[in-house]
Amino acid sequence: MYHTIIIGAGYAGLVLAERLASQQNQKVLVIEQRQHIGGNAYDRYDEHGVLIHEYGPHIFHTRSKEVWDYLSQFTEWHHYEHRVLAKVDGQEVPIPFNLNTIERVFPPALAERLQKKLVDVFGYNVKVPILKLREQDDKDLKFLAEYVYEKVFLHYTLKQWGIGPEELDPTVTGRVPVYVSRDDRYFQDPYQGLPKYGYTEMFKNILNHPNIHLMFNTRYQDIMTISKDGHTLFGQPFEGQIIYTGMIDELFDFAYGELPYRSLRFEYDIFDVEYKQSVGQLNSPNGYDFTRITEFKHLTGQKHPKTSLAREYPQHYVKGENIPYYPITAEENQVKYKKYKQLADTLPNVHLVGRLAEYKYYDMDAVVATALKLYKKLASK
Ligand code: FAD
Ligand code: UDP
Repeated sequence: MYHTIIIGAGYAGLVLAERLASQQNQKVLVIEQRQHIGGNAYDRYDEHGVLIHEYGPHIFHTRSKEVWDYLSQFTEWHHYEHRVLAKVDGQEVPIPFNLNTIERVFPPALAERLQKKLVDVFGYNVKVPILKLREQDDKDLKFLAEYVYEKVFLHYTLKQWGIGPEELDPTVTGRVPVYVSRDDRYFQDPYQGLPKYGYTEMFKNILNHPNIHLMFNTRYQDIMTISKDGHTLFGQPFEGQIIYTGMIDELFDFAYGELPYRSLRFEYDIFDVEYKQSVGQLNSPNGYDFTRITEFKHLTGQKHPKTSLAREYPQHYVKGENIPYYPITAEENQVKYKKYKQLADTLPNVHLVGRLAEYKYYDMDAVVATALKLYKKLASK
């Protein structure tokens, strides 16, 4: 008999399975509709032996020592700091747009004036979201803001989201601010890297406990029911707790309509050279239908005579056809999410956690942090 059923074998589900099994000796059943663990962070070796990320590039980074220490029980790390270049006016320049980028795209006198203005107004080592920079009245800063907006953000965002930067929650473009610094790294978090032997190997270690049972290729709807009047597993009443990491709207059969998502299509290419790009990620804000190209070996540190790259083509999410990768955190969608959340709160012993269940643009570390927080809450009951 299981104490807990967990729906979804991504970060959220796996962390909770591990905690409940190892710390509380609970028997846990994890139900996963795909045929592998790890959710969207799953990686695998392609047919040439190059380690790739099946659902797009994943770089682990966090400010949380707790999260880092937790995962470090299950993996060693390949210490990697992500660097991104974007094609702007025919050149490949550092992103986030920073003091170095300014020197690459403007003539020296203008570059110096813009750099000085940024430092005077915002201070050194400060991150300024593009939408905030656009609010400045100063003529030079206005010029800079419009340049960066047009060349880096507008068309990339239109491709990625199908809507412009102003229509999105400002925190989305705020993830990649203009950085008043000479630091070219994409993230400044103190802990950064990739699991040394890959994400999937780390997930296997997380799950390595005799109390955890896994069912692949199974949608929870096929073997259980969840409702405010009680739950069933294989037709029998189920009195234990349920941790749900799938889409919140699906849990209620889309009673209030679908919550929208963006999806992606990946095109992979293998090349018979050691490296194709100078960095792990090359963004194409302008032109092309794809947003970025990732060369996985830069991220993973793998040595291999061939190299594998993936181009990302954003697209609408269509139920049953592709994967819901990104919740669209616009105001009206939050309203709909809150209605579903109210329904979720009426379900006895059901806890929702993760990017799909909370409809939040979570990075991996944030999912681990919320899963650990939920575990502590459950353990203290
Ligand atoms: P998921 O990984 O989505 O796991 C949910 C699981 O539930 C899935 O395996 C799904 O198949 C299963 N499931 C859903 N419904 C059902 C059902 N009805 N029945 C059974 N099983 C079900 N984060 C970073 O920190 N750094 C990055 O560089 C980064 N890059 C990313 C790039 C892309 C393209 C994307 C899409 C995300 C990226 N992320 C990154 C975010 C990261 O993928 C997520 O934060 C994390 O994987 C979310 O974990 P989760 O467990 O909440 O959800
Ligand atoms: N963005 C952009 N141009 C870039 C990089 C990012 O316009 O060159 C915007 C875009 O809206 C994107 C958001 O910033 O969706 C967040 O970028 P991030 O790299 O964090 O996205 P993710 O890795 O989650 O896809």
